Amino acid sequence: MNRMVREFLVDLFSKSDLNRLPESYGGGRIFSNPLIGVARGDDLIFNKYKEIISPKHLTPKEVWNISKLPDIENSSLRILSIICPFTNQIREESIKAKRMPAEIYSIGRNYANAFKTDIMKQTIEFFQNKGFQATAGMLSEGFNIYRGFFSSWSERHIAFAAGLGTFSLHEGLISEVGCNIRICSIISNAPLEVTPRKSDDPYTNCLYYSKGICRECEKKCPAEAINENGHDKKKCRAYARKIEVEMNKRLGSILKPHWRRIEGEVVTQKPPVGCAFCQYGVPCMDKNPMAM
Ligand code: SF4
Ligand code: SF4
Repeated sequence: MNRMVREFLVDLFSKSDLNRLPESYGGGRIFSNPLIGVARGDDLIFNKYKEIISPKHLTPKEVWNISKLPDIENSSLRILSIICPFTNQIREESIKAKRMPAEIYSIGRNYANAFKTDIMKQTIEFFQNKGFQATAGMLSEGFNIYRGFFSSWSERHIAFAAGLGTFSLHEGLISEVGCNIRICSIISNAPLEVTPRKSDDPYTNCLYYSKGICRECEKKCPAEAINENGHDKKKCRAYARKIEVEMNKRLGSILKPHWRRIEGEVVTQKPPVGCAFCQYGVPCMDKNPMAM
């Protein structure tokens, strides 16, 4: 089943118009081929997330129930995490950028939201067509963003649970294809094969946490939002706002609209365009630097 899902996703990533930049930016792909990983619904890590992230972070079973799907044992649920790596074209342009991100990245980051939603909807349909049921944390009624800078379904934590990578000094997830990625996930009762974590240590792929070296992400950050103690979300968010204002002025006419559910209220926001200087030109951009 894992192989079939991966083939379905590789085909979707290569054919979908939603995975394309506008022609004026070359019309190339936003994401190269995906990686997938699978966690078990009864993995105790999902309960631990209620302590580590917030009691408001949902377990897969809670999302399942909110989605009004028939009752099922936790052990029969599988959580499919999908890593979407940005293409080399976007990365090469972004490495050269200073102060403001490369336009190609801002557009790719903005368009990626619609594609991610489509990936989740089409993957749910894929499972349904095979006779199974499926839902997605981010698409469910339970999905909320909270003002303390967390959400009720953290895709990075789901990817960690599915053995796809670990956390880092810049607070991204370093996967085998690096940290310059986006992530989405599906919960299903399909018999997917679990891909176990190599370790429960949440930081093994980061050179700083594993060997005390690197800190390249800290040097790249224009907002001084990273230091040896980690990532300052407030400073990061403030710089991202400046970028949003500038890039929306420049690119607003071609950016896609965006809304979010913040503490239960649907809010239309300026299209997000990202920052991610800390992810470009660093050892963990496109690989796991600890695997070398
Ligand atoms: S750039 Fe280096 S220190 Fe920063 S997250 Fe990547 S591996 Fe860790
Ligand atoms: S996203 Fe931008 S502001 Fe935030 S930590 Fe990375 S480089 Fe700094």
